[in-house]
Amino acid sequence: MTFELPDLGYGFDALEPWIDAKTMGIHHDKHHKTYTDKFNAALEKHPELFDKSAEEIISDLDSVPEDIKGAVRNNCGGYVNHALFWQILGRGKELKGKLKESVEKEFGSFEDFKKDFGGRAATLFGSGWVWLVVSNGKLEIVSTTNQDSPLSEGKTPILVLDVWEHAYYLKYQNKRPDYIEAFFSVINWDKVGEMYEKARG
Ligand code: MN
Repeated sequence: MTFELPDLGYGFDALEPWIDAKTMGIHHDKHHKTYTDKFNAALEKHPELFDKSAEEIISDLDSVPEDIKGAVRNNCGGYVNHALFWQILGRGKELKGKLKESVEKEFGSFEDFKKDFGGRAATLFGSGWVWLVVSNGKLEIVSTTNQDSPLSEGKTPILVLDVWEHAYYLKYQNKRPDYIEAFFSVINWDKVGEMYEKARG
């Protein structure tokens, strides 16, 4: 069983004008596809790993054989990270319920959270991701470089922003802060809230 490129679940143009259709098309069909193909290719040398989920593999990199560890770290990471990114994007959803309460309690206010998260995304050097994770029952904002995943650190991601240039350069060029602001208009908070409740158990 090889890993398959997951569907977006919506059209490439669904996030217009904040994230443009051309960027979404290339990002999903080319970038995410390449991570998927390279992830599968790496596992061909150790096919017993196909019995695990991608999340299980990236959560336990120590058990991945040394000869493919680097390739798995990058490409299983890219596979899993993008799959989550597509899921937490959407339209017309508001932060509510238990997650809203926790964001306000742990960050002060939604605006404070947005400022922290956006600040991390704006200042992340090079290519990487900014995450809202659940760690020991608490919310935490973390960043990772390249395709590293917080799952490898035992943290459960519930929201994520791709700040690789391929995620925004066609529309925003060097204006990463405009892309970050746009991202806040297309978060599927229902999905994020659902994952929060699941992570809390
Ligand atoms: Mn990407």
